[in-house]
Amino acid sequence: MGQRIMTLRQGHREGTEILGKAGIAEASLDSWLLLSYVTGISRAAYYGEPDRILTEEEADRYETLIQKRAGRIPLQHLTGEQEFMGYTFRVNEHVLIPRQDTETLVEEALRRLKPGMHILDLCTGSGCILISLLKAGAERLAEADAKPSGMSGGMQEKDMLTGIGTDLSGEALKVAAENAGRLGVRASFLKGDLFECVTERYDMIVSNPPYIPTKVIEGLQEEVRLHDPYIALDGKEDGLHFYREIIKNSIYYIKKGGFLLFETGYDQGEAVSALMRDAGYSKVSIQKDLADQDRVVCGSYHREERKPV
Ligand code: GLN
Repeated sequence: MGQRIMTLRQGHREGTEILGKAGIAEASLDSWLLLSYVTGISRAAYYGEPDRILTEEEADRYETLIQKRAGRIPLQHLTGEQEFMGYTFRVNEHVLIPRQDTETLVEEALRRLKPGMHILDLCTGSGCILISLLKAGAERLAEADAKPSGMSGGMQEKDMLTGIGTDLSGEALKVAAENAGRLGVRASFLKGDLFECVTERYDMIVSNPPYIPTKVIEGLQEEVRLHDPYIALDGKEDGLHFYREIIKNSIYYIKKGGFLLFETGYDQGEAVSALMRDAGYSKVSIQKDLADQDRVVCGSYHREERKPV
């Protein structure tokens, strides 16, 4: 590339070639996304005018970003954003980049939502789970509430969904709070280790905790291993550390009939289900993601005898 005239089409072709040579799996997609990020152009506009010439500034920025991506910096760290559940989330090196797999968790949680629920998200990171649950949840409940005549059944203050997210990382919580603000969602974010700062009981507890066994992390692709926060990945020796901690303590923070939902690794569904049953959860089930792998474990808690929080 460099100081010369470059059209969109050439930019895309050359960007794809550089990324391909660097071993980036989705070279064509990533170079397109960076090109559209730099120029602000949509796919339709690209096809309408592929020979539009990039300004010098656009060409320079694009080239710089392509070189960084070739150096294995995740695309989302270059653009600063990631789509999740149809919403755009800000991301940076302090949060795990939202994965499409995690939408399965949000969908399962949405299926169980009822008006007025109070939701707790542990290890919230970018806040993508809690925020999309509150936002999509409010939209879906309002739709379900609308009468066939077009008259609203009247959602009231008491029907509003509320939620808090907790995380060990203060830097992650800044990102989560920014995302809630940008997406117009009211949620609180608290810094602490799992339930450390939690003082209430919840109708629903959700979490995508760190779940990769420590030994497995070194074999992950560079973008994940070097650029996602290590503390967001490391599930300790067998990867199940945080499930054990959360399940064991959750019974003091869940309302009777409340739901506990986890994202799990593809091979952890059975183990996490067993931990939940042992702790007294019932109706424990495993849901698969779009790749047909075990991804979400849900259960509900109906026992009475517990210490107060
Ligand atoms: N699903 C993420 C990955 O595959 C890991 C997320 C987590 O540990 N919670 O990299």
